[in-house]
Amino acid sequence: MKALVYGGPGVKSWTDVPDPVIVNPTDAIVQVDTTTICGTDLHILGGDVPAVQVGRILGHEGVGTITEVGASVTNFTVGDRVIISCIKSCGHCTNCTAGLFSHCLGDEGQSGIGWIFGHLIDGTQADYVRVPYADNSLHKLPDGVSDAEAVMLSDILPTGFEIGVQYGQVKPGDVVAVIGAGPVGLAAMATVGLYGAATVIAIDLDQNRLEQAREFGATDTVLSGAADWKERVLALTDGSGVDVAIEAVGIPQTFTMATEIVRPGGHVANVGVHGKPVELHLETLWIQNINISMGLVNANTTPMLLKLVAQKKIPADKLATHHFTFDQMLDAYDTFGRAAETKALKVVITRS
Ligand SMILES: [Zn+2]
Ligand SMILES: [Zn+2]
Repeated sequence: MKALVYGGPGVKSWTDVPDPVIVNPTDAIVQVDTTTICGTDLHILGGDVPAVQVGRILGHEGVGTITEVGASVTNFTVGDRVIISCIKSCGHCTNCTAGLFSHCLGDEGQSGIGWIFGHLIDGTQADYVRVPYADNSLHKLPDGVSDAEAVMLSDILPTGFEIGVQYGQVKPGDVVAVIGAGPVGLAAMATVGLYGAATVIAIDLDQNRLEQAREFGATDTVLSGAADWKERVLALTDGSGVDVAIEAVGIPQTFTMATEIVRPGGHVANVGVHGKPVELHLETLWIQNINISMGLVNANTTPMLLKLVAQKKIPADKLATHHFTFDQMLDAYDTFGRAAETKALKVVITRS
């Protein structure tokens, strides 16, 4: 089969590799119909994720059709259309039973980390992928949900919702700022209404992304390059700051921005994947009773989000801005890697 193979920092190829086979009775083999590229894949190619070994097939998001199931898989059969969750879950370890699928202790990957595709085992940017713990790590796709909508449920919609909205403890009437209007920031904006946010402020350096943000639920936008960006955000509150600041970029500056606009007693929900330490100004934050959260998605809200996507309550389709076929995988990387120029949100890559 063909797959996108990591060749070390800066090196990737769309090349021939052996087909995956069932290893454990809880595995399924899925023929990938649609996949996409995540900012995390770019981090890996940048050399920021040393756990990824040379030769690894990248990708942790995908939709496909089951072609083979292991002897103990009971929830799925050959021919089922499924969403592949970016997080595997054995379903019965202490962390899984606590809902912390992100730290599933199941022995695949040997690490206590739920994110294994395109990281510790081969991923979804391939013709076929082996899915461990298939019964708990796949979701059956109902009719009426397109592949392009469904692939947003592998990672970005649950990530924006769980780590941004839920960890940020958004409440009805809240003023919520989302720093970073990339795919995950937009996913947070698209789901923050579920908890009744009254005002949703999109903050980004890119005017184009701010315009896109309005289609995902932003009520107000602030260009972060403006000298008075902070005053503009505060003017949209009662003057004390936002109730919840969601950081969806992953660089020190944007984390600091989030701490600068949150009200006393408010929440900073960090969603961004950081590659460097951030400076945490405890000397000023402690007395403001600020709550700070962060995390890897559990993807335990995916079934609920899937229902909302099926009912067109979440505009998942609008995240799909560019379409490619598998043999254009490297073009898709190029387009996604130059998102500021190409205006790409998510690139959707289909079998053909
Ligand atoms: Zn991802
Ligand atoms: Zn587990």
